[in-house]
Amino acid sequence: MITDIRTPVIEAPPIDAGSDAVLLHYITTKDPREAESLFAAARKVRERYYGVDVYFRGLIEFTNYCKNDCYYCGIRRSNTRAERYRLSLQEILECCRMGDRLGFRTFVLQGGEDPWFTDERITEMVEAVRLEFPDHAITLSIGERSRKSYERFFRAGANRYLLRHETACGEHYRKLHPREMSLGERKQCLRDLKDIGYQVGAGFMVGTPFQTPENLLEDLRFIRELEPHMVGIGPFIPQQDTPFRDFPPGGLELTLRMLALTRLILPRVLIPATTALGTISPAGRERGLLAGANVVMPNLSPREVRKLYALYDNKICTGDEAAECRRCMEGRIRLFGFIPNMTRGDVAGWQSSGTP
Ligand code: SAH
Repeated sequence: MITDIRTPVIEAPPIDAGSDAVLLHYITTKDPREAESLFAAARKVRERYYGVDVYFRGLIEFTNYCKNDCYYCGIRRSNTRAERYRLSLQEILECCRMGDRLGFRTFVLQGGEDPWFTDERITEMVEAVRLEFPDHAITLSIGERSRKSYERFFRAGANRYLLRHETACGEHYRKLHPREMSLGERKQCLRDLKDIGYQVGAGFMVGTPFQTPENLLEDLRFIRELEPHMVGIGPFIPQQDTPFRDFPPGGLELTLRMLALTRLILPRVLIPATTALGTISPAGRERGLLAGANVVMPNLSPREVRKLYALYDNKICTGDEAAECRRCMEGRIRLFGFIPNMTRGDVAGWQSSGTP
């Protein structure tokens, strides 16, 4: 961009992320200059705690069986066209070993809510990974379970847990989920996880059907109140075999503004530039980093199953081997002036409380 030297350089005014009116203003603004100054403010705050480092996490999608029936999700139980798979413990460990060889120090084990993975089996999985990788961070992302179960996984060696709240507005939540699911329970899970001592990731989708700007404000207010250590934010993307197949995807710009506002509300939070963001726009993840994100999650799942973990259509990186994903992501972020960081990357200021 060519800047006219006669234009005075104006310090962007500080953005008061504690004010709901200000948040709503930035949620709804159509002014690209305002968005740019928001992104600049978010970058500055991110740099205060994390510099230009981008943390790498290895993602292992170990099952696409799911007992839930979320209207947006491609692996919902009613989708009879989804070809189901489940990795064995040995296959999961192989993914971890590959990840370790590539330098990853965090494994994210994600899946549908698969009843085959009883507490026993999840515990066995966590213990096995912990035994072989005593210093790595283990992150679980397997949906809603009882407090007792979460405690058990924590004792087995899990350190972090990702559970997006999806939308913080009860009425909107009911439009995205069947009646047997409730926002109240999801929020309770998040509070339990935090209480137990996990580093916790909440989060939401942007542009889901029926979402209003007030709903997004509600998401930010919830984030402010819960103070999670991580927040996952990605655009909704329709999946052809779901009830929401004909709805438009969430917008790139709005998603970026939500990332930036989240960064201003919780300066130290870890925010991934998600695969969904990279799916709706070619440089979506890089734009996410420029708007305040500081984590990427290359895929370590075996290539044969990548395409089957089809939460939404046209998911990127489903054809690459783990090593290619790792290398490709590193090259891409370096181009934008960021530095890959392969350490565990706990949230800034994190004091591990005993276990493990
Ligand atoms: N079963 C786990 C993991 C869910 S998959 C759990 O309940 O937490 C991880 C995330 O993918 C979800 O939390 C949701 O926010 C996102 N997702 C699902 N379907 C999507 C879609 N169609 N578009 C964009 N994101 C989607």
